[in-house]
Amino acid sequence: MARLEDLPLRDDLVGQQPYGAPQLDVPVSLNVNENTHRVPLEVAEDIIQRLAKALMSINRYPDREFIPLREALSKYLGHGLTPENIWAGNGSNEVLQHIFQAFGGPGRKFLSFTPTYSMYPIIASGTQTEYVAVPRADRFELTPELIRSAILEHKPNIVILCAPNNPTGTPLALDCVEAAYDAITEVSGGILVVDEAYQEFGADPAVTAISLLDGRERLLISRTMSKAFAFAGARVGYLAADPAVIDALRLVRLPYHLSAFTQAAAEGALAHSSVMLSKVDDIRAQRDRIVTELKLMGLDPYRSDANFVLFGGLTDPAAIWQKLLDRGVLIRNVGLDGTLRVSAGTESETSAFLGSLREVIED
Ligand SMILES: *Cc1c(COP(=O)(O)O)cnc(C)c1O
Repeated sequence: MARLEDLPLRDDLVGQQPYGAPQLDVPVSLNVNENTHRVPLEVAEDIIQRLAKALMSINRYPDREFIPLREALSKYLGHGLTPENIWAGNGSNEVLQHIFQAFGGPGRKFLSFTPTYSMYPIIASGTQTEYVAVPRADRFELTPELIRSAILEHKPNIVILCAPNNPTGTPLALDCVEAAYDAITEVSGGILVVDEAYQEFGADPAVTAISLLDGRERLLISRTMSKAFAFAGARVGYLAADPAVIDALRLVRLPYHLSAFTQAAAEGALAHSSVMLSKVDDIRAQRDRIVTELKLMGLDPYRSDANFVLFGGLTDPAAIWQKLLDRGVLIRNVGLDGTLRVSAGTESETSAFLGSLREVIED
């Protein structure tokens, strides 16, 4: 067997590590911001029927343009969007990769505000796009001024704003999106992506960068069915943008990239979107409960508009992480000094986390 070091790997991949949040079989798994509630039975039954129907013509390639799915997604998003405004992929990670393949590449720059989603630099490097990381302000907040000056200084071709931000939870005001769009338009005519993976968990889900699309042809809003929709295993992410942007992404996608099963399952889930999203209020309540309880323990939770909470005030996060795991509770060490991140689960999972953490801290 050859060793990795012996292979004629591309220079920029030498020494790199693959993305790897632990996948462990534990009673309480709160480390990757999934919706821990199962798909409701009535929806599952409809999806199974749709999968069975898809199977009957699985000898044929699927609809390359996935028009019915794009119709369902545009209806779900509202704001007067049509299927021509919609793109989708196997998770929003693939959609982001399409964006970098179409608009990034050698000699081009991508800027983001750190700490932020760990997949951005990996996708950038896969397309040989230079990565510029600009630190966030106090408590990981962003302001229109900070955003504007970073973009004017670095002149990126692609900017991603993660709203709310992973792994910190930080909400993003729409004036930050407007400032970013104005600045990138001035310096490079580049692409602004707003990653709204956690949009449905926000205090006011109506506050979305989609409301800014009109007249902004290089603004892209990315969403996913992996979080609020409880559909992470199906791998469906999507995007809203000007139809010209969709035409650009069509140039780089592999033909038939969304399988007939994926399309059928996603269409089924979207046909029952309010049932699929029925646990979102409960998850939001568990998130707020986590914030309240952590403060009572003397810890320092950051404000979050997502289904997870980053909290500081820990002297040895790695040790706490391990002791929680020993008690069957898996959360995430994202490598930020003195912090850990936990996803809001069901009420009983959240209780298990809070109870175990209290034990570990008092220990
Ligand atoms: C989870 C997450 C995604 C979603 O990724 P999928 O590929 O759709 O599962 C995208 N962006 C951010 C910031 C995330 O945290």
